[in-house]
Amino acid sequence: MSIAAFGKLAWVLGVIAWYIIRYPFERRAKRVRVVSHKRSTSEAAGLAFAMLGLAVVPAFYVATGIPRAADYPAHIWAVVVGALLYGAAMWVFRRTHKALGRNWSITLEIREKHELVSGGPYALIRHPMYTSFLLMGLGQAFLLSNWVVGLAGVIGFAILFFLRVDKEERMMLELFGPQYRAYMDRTKRIIPYLY
Ligand code: SAH
Repeated sequence: MSIAAFGKLAWVLGVIAWYIIRYPFERRAKRVRVVSHKRSTSEAAGLAFAMLGLAVVPAFYVATGIPRAADYPAHIWAVVVGALLYGAAMWVFRRTHKALGRNWSITLEIREKHELVSGGPYALIRHPMYTSFLLMGLGQAFLLSNWVVGLAGVIGFAILFFLRVDKEERMMLELFGPQYRAYMDRTKRIIPYLY
């Protein structure tokens, strides 16, 4: 198997892991009532771009090899780094789902009896699930030796993140007031101690 094919296989395994972690939460989320939401066109667009960049574009590439012109030679070290990044992403992804539990939503929603989660992965940063998306995007960039497909994940993440994060924090402030303000004062957004 070529090194490029090995990278593609690792990406496919990563996406399967992503789905295995997410699926039970998607099912459970259906049973918890949504009491309010901040869904909007830009929010839907952000989600669509993230899906496109982190799933649709790379899946199409793995299946068809398109866009072939943007391929560059794969290196074993890049595949190793990519697998480590993607593995780290899945570890963080799983921890954030477990910590959020019934408070999780795919979009901006407040659940019945919503609680502020500030422990575990939420102790240092407010958006560790988005950190896991960034790690996924970076992992993808190292696993798939194609400029377009490699960058698509990080771009998809960035569009979702910047369209959403202010609204999400405002929504949390409306709900939790000074409690969230204090939580903001002692945490960063997605990179511990930095941002
Ligand atoms: N931004 C967080 C959560 C993503 S899931 C992260 O990246 O880890 C999105 C939903 O999580 C939002 O609809 C919001 O209702 C909820 N949420 C975000 N931060 C939360 C927190 N600290 N405690 C409880 N729920 C939270």
